[in-house]
Amino acid sequence: QETLLEVNNLVTEFRTADGNVQAVRDVSFSIAKGETLCIVGESGCGKSITSLSVIGLLPSNGRIANGEVKYEGKPIHNLPYEQMRQMRGTKISMIFQEPMTALNPVLTVGYQLREPLILHHKIKKSEATKQGIELLKQVGIPYPEKRMNQYPHELSGGMRQRVMIAMALACHPGLLIADEPTTALDVTIQAQILDLINELKEKLNMGIMMVTHDMGVVAEVADRVMVMYAGKKVEEGPVAAIFDNPKHPYTIGLLNSVPNIDDPDFELEPIPGSLPSLHEQIHGCRFHPRCKFATDKCREIAPPEFTTKEEGHVVSCWLHEEVEEEVKHGHLVAQ
Ligand code: SF4
Ligand code: MG
Repeated sequence: QETLLEVNNLVTEFRTADGNVQAVRDVSFSIAKGETLCIVGESGCGKSITSLSVIGLLPSNGRIANGEVKYEGKPIHNLPYEQMRQMRGTKISMIFQEPMTALNPVLTVGYQLREPLILHHKIKKSEATKQGIELLKQVGIPYPEKRMNQYPHELSGGMRQRVMIAMALACHPGLLIADEPTTALDVTIQAQILDLINELKEKLNMGIMMVTHDMGVVAEVADRVMVMYAGKKVEEGPVAAIFDNPKHPYTIGLLNSVPNIDDPDFELEPIPGSLPSLHEQIHGCRFHPRCKFATDKCREIAPPEFTTKEEGHVVSCWLHEEVEEEVKHGHLVAQ
């Protein structure tokens, strides 16, 4: 598949009262057309900052300090504001956890769908209304004509999320970034929205970057998975390889903290400890304070990225072969 997005050696930095801190540390990945990459990790691991770096929406004290972001082969990390705004209207769209932050409560759904269409496509209001109704149909909203005249608060959470997706699709983006889009929804609605995202990806051949802390969501939508910890990529691979053959202790910890519906006696095993603060200096592997395998070497030298026998599966852990053995013998993952 054709590469859509390419991120090389991304470093994202924040200015704070106590000096500069790095939230993303030398992270590289790519997304092809028609492919979903899930970026997964605990809250604060740098996954949202990675996505905001790509779409050029970092807060004012943040900046890309190194590396590059390319869309269809062209660098976009250094575009002037106005051109980046154009990119966001036409090539890259983003949806968030809480649709109310993206929707304006005092404007009708129809108005909010028409505006960007009129602006970007220079079409008449009547044509924009027609396209707006089509978009609502496309995201599975019943009675779209009626919905056009409603205000966001008149819709359920799931319907609002569908409207936000419709807005994101209005200008036919090649890349859709979704940051925890279903976290606030109950499980049934969550499943429906994930189905919709999968369906749209197929139909429109979009690339999707899904940011989530939830391995259940990863299982539903990912083609490939990138696991992040404390600003670093620690493991990346095809979704089946990550679930069946995880090699990084942190990935295994994430998998072990997924509730298992088939086994009611299964005990949740969250990873002990917590993410370091951005100010904390950590020598060697950034996961070592929480890792039960950590050796002196881990505490001194950061592991490089190792390739593995499996195509496209990489891991940054000195002991990944030993860890893999433990998993195979059933000592680590309850499956
Ligand atoms: Fe644990 Fe060492 Fe691997 Fe880091 S490099 S994850 S500390 S075993
Ligand atoms: Mg986040």
